[in-house]
Amino acid sequence: MVAMNRTNEETGTVMIGGGELGRCPTRIHHDRYNTAERTTDPVVEHRIAEGRRWEDAVVSALLEGMQPTVAVEPGTRIDSGTPLVIAGDVRSSDREAITLEAMQAGASLILGGRLSSESLQSVGAPDILVRLDDGYAPIDVKHHKAIGPLGIPVRVTSLDQMEDVNGTTATFRANRINDLLQIAHYWKLLDEVGFANPRHLGGIIGAETPMIVAWVDLAAGRPPILERHREALQEAVLVTTVGRLQPDEPFIKAVWRGECRSCPWADFCRAELEAIDHVSLLPAITPNDTEQLLEAGISTTSAMANLEPGSVHGGYEIAEEATLQARARATGSLLRRSGVDLALPAADTEIDFDIETYGGSLYLAGLLIHEPHGAAFRPISEWSGTASGERRVLRDLFEFFDDVAERNDAVVYHWTGYERTILNEAALRQGLTLRSAPSVDAWFDEHACDLWWWIKQRFVSPNGYSLKVIAPLCGFHWRDSDPGGAQSELWYADAVSGDDAQRLRLLEYNEDDVAAQAAIRRWVRAQE
Ligand code: SF4
Repeated sequence: MVAMNRTNEETGTVMIGGGELGRCPTRIHHDRYNTAERTTDPVVEHRIAEGRRWEDAVVSALLEGMQPTVAVEPGTRIDSGTPLVIAGDVRSSDREAITLEAMQAGASLILGGRLSSESLQSVGAPDILVRLDDGYAPIDVKHHKAIGPLGIPVRVTSLDQMEDVNGTTATFRANRINDLLQIAHYWKLLDEVGFANPRHLGGIIGAETPMIVAWVDLAAGRPPILERHREALQEAVLVTTVGRLQPDEPFIKAVWRGECRSCPWADFCRAELEAIDHVSLLPAITPNDTEQLLEAGISTTSAMANLEPGSVHGGYEIAEEATLQARARATGSLLRRSGVDLALPAADTEIDFDIETYGGSLYLAGLLIHEPHGAAFRPISEWSGTASGERRVLRDLFEFFDDVAERNDAVVYHWTGYERTILNEAALRQGLTLRSAPSVDAWFDEHACDLWWWIKQRFVSPNGYSLKVIAPLCGFHWRDSDPGGAQSELWYADAVSGDDAQRLRLLEYNEDDVAAQAAIRRWVRAQE
């Protein structure tokens, strides 16, 4: 909520902010020292604006029916038990002073606080500090889902029972570990000033509806989150300290990794890595593999293409998948795996299926129905941006699925498990069920084929298995010059506001996604 102003001068103590923990070290360097102009990404801007709106919604919900004190300067009278809001334009040093005064006074909630410690080389702006029986706990608000089927154990409570840290058990998405490193950062800062709860509790309010707090024991886990925070902090301090001395050269050079896809420096790093044919560009190679390969003198994908799978170099055993990916990259095409059968599941009616969502809610289900006499695109859509709109789409789609099941002469193709996941969640949310199967998963098991998985088992891709990578390798190209799920979020926001051109654009985009799947199947059948 409060813009972080990390200490970033040429002298003085390097101070690390909570959002930097667990980040790619090269990104930490570039964010601070790279003066190259970053192009403004409208998708990122839109997501930031949506995130702010979500934070405002959480704050409104938290303060509903309360009379908070609003502080604009230190020395404001703060009553024990009264929530405190620190005004947005208060400067950093005053914000810190007010935060301390509020905790000394026993404010029940502190919104917009700030903490720092030179000895920890840390600074942080926790969205919320909440007073528990035995001290304060930090809570951060995130505009992404926090709870998932697998991950780190947490206790979940509703927003109006926020101080109840012993709610129902759930799991925190493991791929959101940086959220937990961030609250560990705030907990350490609270501990430094003597106000941390000794149970090491911190919370995250994700984008779940209704709003919930996920409470985590930061001292738990193997290794404990606080231990992981300590290591991440050490790395960030090192990278930042060295970066100050050599701003033109990151202490840790770019290595292509999962995080790159959403990094503002992706184009910059990708160009640098492509220019040297860097081995990390192979999807099978992790940053840890890269380190070992570089030590063994293997730095390029072309070198990898010439290696024997299973051969050992400097103690590192070369994985077959990496060599195959390197060979596919050398030819710029899909490489057929040896001994695989290319007979696709087939039926009289073949249906390519793809959904579009916004904030996890379904608004468009595209169906390209191929029958013996021809093919037709049938979109099921709604543009109100409401829960009842999602319900209509899901109800019509389930009717279609029930019909497919009863006819029993069709196979539905989709790309990845995304459709299953979203339909499962939407069915739960909307209280809708299929007539023809006990669950969404059971229906998919019986009538659908995950084309992504099917392709992955039979072909090696030079650059991963997204539809946007695979379809062009099979000769398909999108009509829109800027296709992508992220861009479609912007188009949907416009479409909901009544922009018919963007509505049409989304329909065409979805139609092309299902046509891309059909093109892949045609290409596969031509290889048989
Ligand atoms: S693009 Fe990748 S390697 Fe480069 S800074 Fe971002 S995350 Fe790091």
